Amino acid sequence: MSTRTIQVTDLLHEYILKNSLRESALLQRLREETAALPMARMQISPEQGQFMALLLGLLGARRTIEVGVFTGYSALIAAQSVPADGFVLACDVSEEWTAIGRKYWQEAGVADRIDLRLAPAQETLAAVLEEPGQAGSFDFAFIDADKGGYRAYYEACLELLRPGGVVAVDNTLWGGSVADPDNTKDDTVAIRNFNAFVHTDDRVDLSLLPIGDGLTLARKK
Ligand code: CA
Repeated sequence: MSTRTIQVTDLLHEYILKNSLRESALLQRLREETAALPMARMQISPEQGQFMALLLGLLGARRTIEVGVFTGYSALIAAQSVPADGFVLACDVSEEWTAIGRKYWQEAGVADRIDLRLAPAQETLAAVLEEPGQAGSFDFAFIDADKGGYRAYYEACLELLRPGGVVAVDNTLWGGSVADPDNTKDDTVAIRNFNAFVHTDDRVDLSLLPIGDGLTLARKK
C-alpha cells in the first residue's frame, strides 16, 4: 500500500494490458499500421484510448473536438463513443497522416460523424467559434498537437465546451522532462508553462493523471 501513485514497471504494464484492455481488432490494426511509421511515438497508448472511451461514456458525450489527429486512433474512439448523430470536429494539418485514419473511420462506419478540417487548428477553432450556437456546445476536447500551441488551443476549447465538459490534454508529463529544471527545450518549457497555468485556472476542476505520457483533465465549471 502507498499514498503515492504506483510505479508502473514493464511487468505491471503488461499485467494491466492483459487484464483490462478490450481493444477492437480494427483499433489494433490501425495502431499496428501506425507503429510502422517514423512518427509512431505520436500515437496514444491503447489503455489511454480505452480510458478516454470510458470518459466519453461517463460524460454522455455527443460532440467532441480533436486538436491533432495524426492517424486518427483517438478520433476513431471518439466517433465510436458518441451516438449515431454525434459529431467529432477533427483538426489537423497533415493530409498524409489523416488519410490513414480515414480508411479506418470508413471501415468502422463512423466516417460521417467526423468532420476533418485540414488547416491550422487555431484557425479552425476560431472559425467554429464564430458560428452561431457553437460556443458552449461541445462535451469533450482532446488536445494532442504542437506543444507551443497548447495554451491557445485550451482557451478555444474551453469556450467551445459546455459547463461540465472536459478538456483532456496529452503529454503533460513529457517523458518526465517537465520535472527536470535543467531541461529548457522549447516543448518542455511550453508544457511546463501550460501545466503551471492550468494549475491556477479557477475556471476548471483539474487532475493530472500519470497515464500514457501524462494526461491532464480539466472540467469546465
Ligand atoms: Ca500525444
